[in-house]
Parts: sequence; structure tokens; C-alpha cells
Amino acid sequence: MRIIRPISLYNTLTRKIEQISPIIPGEVKVYSCGPTVYNFAHIGNLRTFLFQDLMKRTLLAAGYEVRHCMNITDVEDKIIRDSQVDLPADATNEARHAAMNRLTDRYTVLFLEDLDAMRILRPDVMPKATGHIGQMKILIQNLVDKGLAYAREGSVYFRIAGFPNYGCLAHLDREGMQSGASMDADEYDKDHAQDFVLWKAAKTGEPTWDSAWGPGRPGWHIECSAMGIELLGGHVDIHTGGVDLIFPHHENEIAQSEGALGHPWVSMWVHGEFLMVEGEKMSKSLGNFYTLRDLVEKGINPITFRYAIQSNHYRKLLNFSFEGLKAADNSLKRIRAFRKRMEEDGAQAGGGTWKEALDPVQRLEKARIAFWEAMADDLNTPEALAALFTLISDLNAQDDRIALTREERDAVLGFLDETDSIFAAWPHESPMDVLASVTGLPATAVLGGVSVSMAEILSPERIQSLIAARQAARDARNWAESDRLRDQLKAMGIVLEDRKDGTVGWRRA
Ligand SMILES: [Zn+2]
Repeated sequence: MRIIRPISLYNTLTRKIEQISPIIPGEVKVYSCGPTVYNFAHIGNLRTFLFQDLMKRTLLAAGYEVRHCMNITDVEDKIIRDSQVDLPADATNEARHAAMNRLTDRYTVLFLEDLDAMRILRPDVMPKATGHIGQMKILIQNLVDKGLAYAREGSVYFRIAGFPNYGCLAHLDREGMQSGASMDADEYDKDHAQDFVLWKAAKTGEPTWDSAWGPGRPGWHIECSAMGIELLGGHVDIHTGGVDLIFPHHENEIAQSEGALGHPWVSMWVHGEFLMVEGEKMSKSLGNFYTLRDLVEKGINPITFRYAIQSNHYRKLLNFSFEGLKAADNSLKRIRAFRKRMEEDGAQAGGGTWKEALDPVQRLEKARIAFWEAMADDLNTPEALAALFTLISDLNAQDDRIALTREERDAVLGFLDETDSIFAAWPHESPMDVLASVTGLPATAVLGGVSVSMAEILSPERIQSLIAARQAARDARNWAESDRLRDQLKAMGIVLEDRKDGTVGWRRA
């Protein structure tokens, strides 16, 4: 029989730390709000994805099976704003969709690269919102039929007055809510709790889909409800995201999903805190806005960043600093050096006796118990790591006097593997060029109407072969083909540089 360790997490819904108890015993269904793919994820976003990975790896190490769904938001206000700028006013709907897909395909690939570089386990399913528009329309129609939503001028809004539980997650005061007043923006603060948009009527310059309410596109909130229900069923054990999503996004997800299903949807809402940079809020204007690639350029390994984030508790505001990264690097060196010592035989013992009563195996068991007690208590990583470092100090000292046996060393290595299945930071770093290439990407993307594998999109061989094909087209004075290939490369984020000597160089945009 499989042994499963009990794990407790802080549930934003009840404001309590609760033991998880999945509806299907032993199998946890997790939904995570994924990235909005119009730009690189910044390190604040990455903190959220790292906390989700830590939680998932802890559940796996504790013996649970995990079914993890993380969406890709590939249609949304900011995506449309950034993807349509170069298009003429009379661009066709097809051209608008294609421009949007080019932008989102590119940043999806780059996001997956970030995940891999930080050893974040790929979710089991990563649905793209644009692949589930039909499900969104069905969900909206269901809410309209139940009187929980209404159409107005081609848009559809959720009627918050029809859902008495509205405000349960963010603990809103119903007094201040304005039902009947409708809100078109996807992001707004608590003082603006109004009927929110489910379907947005077409605006000029935007890609659209047909619907019973006229051409338009989904609002952001309905995307997650539709994909969550379609892919995980009518019940989710744990829904995660950053604290910034509690209101309005997650509040609205509850209203939509429970309004349609007619029963509770999510057992636990688990949220990760923000990240500050050197004591300040991260912002482009302050120049403290970093992506993972920025850190790598500064010589910081993605795994060092991972460890620096995870050595702090996920619910505490984290002040990211370059000093902190140095400390993380030192801690990792210490764990890796200890691991190496345990791998090797024939340590020179200094002789003498060990005064304390605990033998290494007992010591190890004590550390394992302390480690798991901490992780089971709302993922208390600082305490769990403290247990590991206590073990390292004690065993190093003991090994100096009376060398540990091979069996004792193997038992210690087993514990290091167990802890690494959660922290994913030892025995080694990520290769520093991990962000320059994509390996083993299963998905395909449509670029310029052609379906290509994600792995191909960023492989240097693929880029070189397209450049060579373009050069051949130019030599043959086939300008249409040469332009088409240049555009395809542009869609992949590759900018060509025609050099004076006649060769062609390239760089990533
Ligand atoms: Zn979401």
C-alpha cells in the first residue's frame, strides 16, 4: 500500500492552514493560472511559478499523484494591444489572429524555456485559451440561461447580485458592490466590484470570434473557469496563483464556475506572495525589472535563483537582492560539497570518540522527521532547510572523527535525493546556455500558417537553415520567397543582419 504523508496548506478561502484531502483519495487536481504570453516573465512572476512547483513536488514526494493543469493566456487586452500595432486599419480578422498567434507562440516557447532552466516540472496539460473558445461560450450561455449573466450591446456581463457568495475569497463587504453597473476592464481593484465582463463585444482593430451575442472575444476571467472545468472536471482540489490574482480574477472564477456548476468548485485556494527587488517594488521605471535572462547575463545560474526563492517561505514578502543570491550560492556549494563527501569512500578519520549518543542513522532519521514536519506545515522551507543544514554540520563533524561507513553514507545520499526531489537544486547547476536552446518540446506552434514543432522554433540549426534558404531565394532573385522567409524568421523573434561582407548574421529580438 502506498504511504501518503499528510500535508497542510494555508487556504485563502478559510484563512486557515488545513490538511489537504483530495476528493479522489491520493490524487490531487491542481489548477494554476498560467502566464499571459506577450512578454518575458519577470522574476516576480517566476516566484509564483516556483512556489507552485515546490508545492507540486512536495505533494509528489509525499506520495500523492498530481494532475496539474496550467493555462496559457493567449488572448487578453495586453496581448491584443502589443500584437496589433503593426497592422493596417483594414487588416482582415485572419491577419489579426495570425499576428496575435505569432506573438503568443513566441513567448510561450520562451516561457517554457524559463520553466526548464529552473527545473520547474512541466504541467500535465497546458491549454491555450484560444483553443477553448467554444467551451467559454458554452459556459457563458449556461450563466445567461441561469439568469447569472446578461447581454448588453454585444457584451455579456456576470450579475454579481445573482451570486450571494460573491466576495467570499477576497472577503468583500457586499454593501459596497455595484450590481447593474458593468465593468469592461479585466483588472480593477476591490472598490470597483461591479458586474464584470464575460464576453467583450468586437472593437475595431481587434481579432474576434463569432458568438450568439455577435462577434467578440472572451474576457480574461472566463478563460480559466472554462479550461479548469473542461480539463479537470467539476472539482479542483487546489487552485494556485499569486496574491495579486485573489481579486478580482479568482473571485470572478469562483462566481463563474460555481454559478454554472451549482456546487463548490475549488477546495483550497493557495496564493504566493510578491517579490520586491532590493527593498523596492519592481518596476520598469526604477530599472529593477529583471527577467531570468537578465540574471543569466549577470552570471547567475537559474538554479541559484530557484534556491534563493525557495529558501524563503512562499507566503512572506520576499526581498530579492544580489547579496541574497550570493548567500544562496554559498548554501548550495555547502550542500553539494557534503553530497560529494558522502559519495566518496575512505575519508581520513581523525580518530577519537564521538561524545554524543546519536549514531549517524538516528541522526538522519531525526533530520528526515524535522524536514517533513516543516514541509507538511504549509511548506515551511526555511525550517526544512535548517534541518538539512543541522544534519550536514553534525555529520561533517562526526565524519572527521569516526569515518561514516558506506551504508551510512548511502543512507545520507538517499535523504539528499529525497530532499532534492523537492528543491531540485542539488547535485548541480543548470547549464548556463540552457536558455539558448529548447530541448524535447512536445507541442507544435503555427507560424505563418505552417505548423512547426516548438523545439524547432528556437533551434540554431533551424534558424541557420531558414537563413540559408532565404539566401538561396535571394540569389535566385525570388524576392517573394526571400521576403516570406524573412517574415517567418521575424515571427520566430529572429532579426537578420545583412553584413558588409555579404554574409548574414542574426540575433534574437
Ligand atoms: Zn486564472
